[in-house]
Amino acid sequence: MEYFIPVVIFLFGTVLGSFLNVIIFRHNSGRGFGGRSGCLTCARNLSWYELVPIFSYLGLRGKCRDCHTPISIVYPIIEFSMGAILLMLVSRFAFFLPLSGAIFTYFIAFYTLIFAIMLVIVGYDIRHKIIPNNLVYPLIFITFIGLFLSNFGSVHFHTATLNAILAGPLVALPLFILWAVSKGAWLGFGDVKLAIAIGFMLGAERGFAALVLSFWTGALIGVFLIIILGRNATKKMYLPFAPFLIFGTILAFFLNVTVTSLLGYF
Ligand SMILES: [Zn+2]
Repeated sequence: MEYFIPVVIFLFGTVLGSFLNVIIFRHNSGRGFGGRSGCLTCARNLSWYELVPIFSYLGLRGKCRDCHTPISIVYPIIEFSMGAILLMLVSRFAFFLPLSGAIFTYFIAFYTLIFAIMLVIVGYDIRHKIIPNNLVYPLIFITFIGLFLSNFGSVHFHTATLNAILAGPLVALPLFILWAVSKGAWLGFGDVKLAIAIGFMLGAERGFAALVLSFWTGALIGVFLIIILGRNATKKMYLPFAPFLIFGTILAFFLNVTVTSLLGYF
């Protein structure tokens, strides 16, 4: 029984993740958010057992049952990530529960919203190689407002001190310089805007750690792709950067990695 509640929380997160997939795959596509889910190639409507998060993808072995078109790996990745994030959020803020159910609920809702928008950005950037303004602007707004809302008497993560407000532009600065120097070749301006939100969310110490971690994982995956693709890897091959930025953010947030602790290993 001790695993029952964590499993339920994880599964609830994967269901949330499949709603995020609907947004990722229909946003700006001309398709509304209503109507039934269907195969993007042969348009066949999906039955209920083909809409179960993660398991349907595994059961169908990643292919449409009718036309055998591969189903995007983005679906199970987003579902699994939201499940794992929700579980980690609940366990992180569980210590609030005996103190105040309201504060617990506030933190879970606040960070679930932030990570949900981030996962939509990840999926959208993988698919379309762009970060839509109508996702990243609300994210900047919510993380900024959060600076003024996370102060509960003695319980606060970081308050809206001048440092916390400056952390947004400060964390975005290195990416802005890379963007300006490469004239947008190495990363997009959307990544710069995303980093502002990451700075507001994490503060400067953890925000810079998120940057460092995203550069490391990005470089690692980049080298790995060049090795497995060999000569097929072209100079023009473009890796979206937002997934790495957000992966770094998840690590820095949940493991409380600061840039000083990270660089202290050297
Ligand atoms: Zn199909």
